Amino acid sequence: MNVPFVSFEPMHKEIESEIVDKFKEVYNKNWFIQGDEVKKFEEEFAAFCDAKYCIGCGNGLDALYLILRGYDIGVGDEVIVPSNTYIATALAVSYTGAKPVFVEPDLNTCNINSDLIEKVITDKTKAIMAVHLYGQPADIDRINDIAQKYNLKVIEDSAQAHGALYKGRKTGSLGDAAGFSFYPGKNLGALGDAGAVVTNDKELADKIRAIANYGSDKKYHHIYKGTNSRLDEIQAAFLRIKLKNLGKWNEDRIRIAQKYLEGINNPKIIKPNIAGYAKCVWHLFVIRTEKRDDFVRYLNDTGVGTTIHYPIPMHMQDAYADLGYKKEDFPMAEQISDEVLSLPMWYGMKDEEVQYVINTINNWE
Ligand SMILES: *Cc1c(COP(=O)(O)O)cnc(C)c1O
Repeated sequence: MNVPFVSFEPMHKEIESEIVDKFKEVYNKNWFIQGDEVKKFEEEFAAFCDAKYCIGCGNGLDALYLILRGYDIGVGDEVIVPSNTYIATALAVSYTGAKPVFVEPDLNTCNINSDLIEKVITDKTKAIMAVHLYGQPADIDRINDIAQKYNLKVIEDSAQAHGALYKGRKTGSLGDAAGFSFYPGKNLGALGDAGAVVTNDKELADKIRAIANYGSDKKYHHIYKGTNSRLDEIQAAFLRIKLKNLGKWNEDRIRIAQKYLEGINNPKIIKPNIAGYAKCVWHLFVIRTEKRDDFVRYLNDTGVGTTIHYPIPMHMQDAYADLGYKKEDFPMAEQISDEVLSLPMWYGMKDEEVQYVINTINNWE
């Protein structure tokens, strides 16, 4: 059997005719930027997140960048980010001119270890980026408490956690503002790049809407040195169709994850841990093993697709050589990057495919 790491086929087959009809509708309207579809998607996605405002934008990286710009964070400021995340989290900070300050993860959840945050706070610290990695919400109550004590903003990087819950509350409404990515492979994905900011802060929402549209609040009237990062009508139209199905698609990921958690019993494999406060939506199912390279070869030979999220921690990336870090500065992030491996996880995986992955893993010696 061959089980690909990811397949969009079952998801996209189900909605194909709806998508094609929608394409024709938008095409015939001849209105492609900032129209009704974007407006409706923004309302629907804000409601989905139990939040007041949503501003569509070009991608997830821009969403995070726009939030930082909205809070006037820039040169001379510091923003706390987890040492274990996708590089976009840190790049958003760098683009503003501020400095990303890394904090190690908790090895159980792979999310930021909130016990270590206070140690790195300085008088330059302006915000904490709470990444809900792999679909599991970060320990947000602790993070919000720390932020309140030091007067910092809490920005959720929700790029991997559409619909996840923290103590019953939706990601996107847990901090001051949240950035979402609709990259095709995310739990809610467009048919191309797209993203959104979600917040309950009206002032921030208005400002971000302007910054994302050339800094313009009225046509040809520019109040900020803004950028161009807007959600396309066509992508918003597609996203509206997908959003209606997101609950079902997330539940299917949970079904697969439960089977993996129950079925995988190879002692050489460490399974993911979900904190008691979290409902995880399993953007990725990430296991750990010390013999990772052998395991990858074995899975390749047996037809099980895998990917490593992420093989090089940010402080070891050439792009961040300027920060002057060296190996062993963030041992937890390094250990995770040496040991992690993501298993197939996509809507519509058949029971026998899930079972094949489990059996294959259990038979590894
Ligand atoms: C995907 C992702 C982003 C960036 O989203 P894009 O839409 O690709 O720009 C940011 N943070 C995390 C954690 C991500 O997984």
